[in-house]
Amino acid sequence: MSSASEPMSAAIGVLGGTFDPVHYGHLRAAVEVREQLGLSGVKMVPSAQPPHRQAPWASAEHRMAMLRRAISCQDFLAADDCEMRRQGPSYMVDTLSDIRRGIGDAPLVLIIGQDAANGLDRWHEWRELFELAHVAVMRRPDAESDYRDELAQCMARRMVTAPGALHAAPAGLVIDVAITQLDISSTAIRALIAAGQSAHYLTPPPVIEYIRQHGLYSGPVSA
Ligand code: ATP
Ligand code: MG
Repeated sequence: MSSASEPMSAAIGVLGGTFDPVHYGHLRAAVEVREQLGLSGVKMVPSAQPPHRQAPWASAEHRMAMLRRAISCQDFLAADDCEMRRQGPSYMVDTLSDIRRGIGDAPLVLIIGQDAANGLDRWHEWRELFELAHVAVMRRPDAESDYRDELAQCMARRMVTAPGALHAAPAGLVIDVAITQLDISSTAIRALIAAGQSAHYLTPPPVIEYIRQHGLYSGPVSA
């Protein structure tokens, strides 16, 4: 079932987000999770119309352009525009289905921060996510693990500690990943820029330059 370009054993990571804008927290997380889990690469997927939160400040095109600039020097990070090519709300279950169609039964790993994982049971068709991918949960500075009833049981039942297990099945397992805690958020970056302050060293220089060129986040309520 696997395509010629993706050998069966190549496990692929998927990191979704609004990336409004992308920052070193996202980028460092992608690098560390890839190395810890032995992934061949990580697809970063900007959400075109996030269903679980308010609309992004920057357009999908701007967010994608910033992401492309941020990762241009890393072969194993790819920007995937599949959510921008679909109509309607950007559901992760549809994104994983799209990716799954292209990779056959290769292992697929959905990478999410603990803050996002805690609300996974509010995602559209959330149980289906485990049929399509493994889930890697990254610790974040301000979020403890806090799952409700059925999600808690589901996560516990699927939890593994050895990354090797992820390579032996296409989907269905959960792993916690400890990464370097960078207390950076897009919200904080937008607030800095709205206040006329510098966002240097929170996101790569080409992203800062793009924000400046296009006058993004300079309105009074960008946080
Ligand atoms: P916002 O402040 O607008 O919510 P954000 O910085 O949280 O933005 P998102 O686009 O919401 O970024 O996050 C996308 C994914 O990346 C989520 O799974 C989130 O948990 C994770 N993530 C965001 N920032 C970090 C960080 N500093 N370290 C690790 N993971 C992060
Ligand atoms: Mg967030």
